Amino acid sequence: MSLLSAYAEVIGPEAVHTLERLAAPLRGRSFLHVNSTAAGGGVAEILTQLVPIFRELGLDCRWEVIAGTPEFFDVTKTFHNALQGEATGLADAQYDLYRRVNEDNARRLDLSADYVFIHDPQPAALIASRKGGKWCWRCHIDASHPHPAVWEFLRPYVESYDAAVFSMASYSQVLPILQFRIPPAIDPFSQKNRDLSDREIERALKKYAVPRDKPIILQVSRFDRFKDPLGVIAAYRMVKPYADCRLVLAGGTAADDPEGALVLAQVREAAAEDPNIHVLAMPQDDLAINALQRAAAIVLQKSTREGFGLTVSEALWKKKPVIAGAVGGLPLQVIEGATGYLVHSPEGAAFRIRSLLKRPALARRMGQRGRDHVRLHFLLSRQARDYLFLLHAMDRPEETIIRL
Ligand code: UDP
Repeated sequence: MSLLSAYAEVIGPEAVHTLERLAAPLRGRSFLHVNSTAAGGGVAEILTQLVPIFRELGLDCRWEVIAGTPEFFDVTKTFHNALQGEATGLADAQYDLYRRVNEDNARRLDLSADYVFIHDPQPAALIASRKGGKWCWRCHIDASHPHPAVWEFLRPYVESYDAAVFSMASYSQVLPILQFRIPPAIDPFSQKNRDLSDREIERALKKYAVPRDKPIILQVSRFDRFKDPLGVIAAYRMVKPYADCRLVLAGGTAADDPEGALVLAQVREAAAEDPNIHVLAMPQDDLAINALQRAAAIVLQKSTREGFGLTVSEALWKKKPVIAGAVGGLPLQVIEGATGYLVHSPEGAAFRIRSLLKRPALARRMGQRGRDHVRLHFLLSRQARDYLFLLHAMDRPEETIIRL
């Protein structure tokens, strides 16, 4: 089955028709994406799915990946942190290296296309080698409070683009070019989100020794203090005397992240051998995350700071009510009282968990609305639609109404 017909079953034929209608005037046009990694990380995951969608829609869509040395990626990691506000600087030689690697890639890659999307800071300087076409800088991180020295270096590159895209309005910068807000999205057909059979769910839960004898409260997150796993345990302890449940905290192994290892140790200490708390420091296992989200009664994302929080769309898609911190992109997804609740403290989370555990019919209704909310706003088909709008807008930067 083609991707578009698979999407038609999920979002309806009219929504697919809208995509086709938007794409029709762009048929045969070349559309190039460039990023810095072919696998691993959200951007690669999104492009893996988006490029075939655009091809099916008739665009000549390609995806190129820049090559760089470890020293180059050290520099761009510093860019990444500095854009997110860390006070960190670079030596002139490092800026030179960044420029040089981008120039080498510009020679190596075929950058000729009608539309070029450059993802994140690593390949941003490719714009200096533009021969033609409309170019858009697609920034996936929060660039609202960058460290000045690094931003002053990057700014002239960014300002040479035709447009910039940020995931949230609050992540953007004042720029003299077109700007668009396009939030991230999830892939409904991936291993992490596809429908699972009961047997698949059972098997995955068994693998991680999580019984299904009582309602499961779940948080899926890296072991990071901003995800507030200790607050989650505190909330669970407040609920437990009134409503029997299990708590599952699923996260990465934190093997390559010293701070993560520290948080994981604190979480284990706080869990204190409670047989109803499952701290799963697990390797990347999309099927298991999918199964846990489907087995859960309530999903938490009690972050105190957050980018977008893809875990929330993932859980809503699986018809779970979500209780989330009122930060970052979480309020876009958790509509108070409709798809879940926004909270500001462990006490607030406990109050909402307790009342939802007592009202399964309400939890079910919220879950259904959550799925509808994600279907409308946070599937990759919506991101594809936004990108098509953007291509039209770059062609006609002066027009506020575009007739197709
Ligand atoms: N995730 C995962 N395994 C884990 C922890 C997280 O697969 O042990 C996934 C999670 O399902 C989500 C992503 O990692 O798709 C995390 O994205 P999010 O935006 O929620 O948070 P971030 O980690 O980017 O701050």
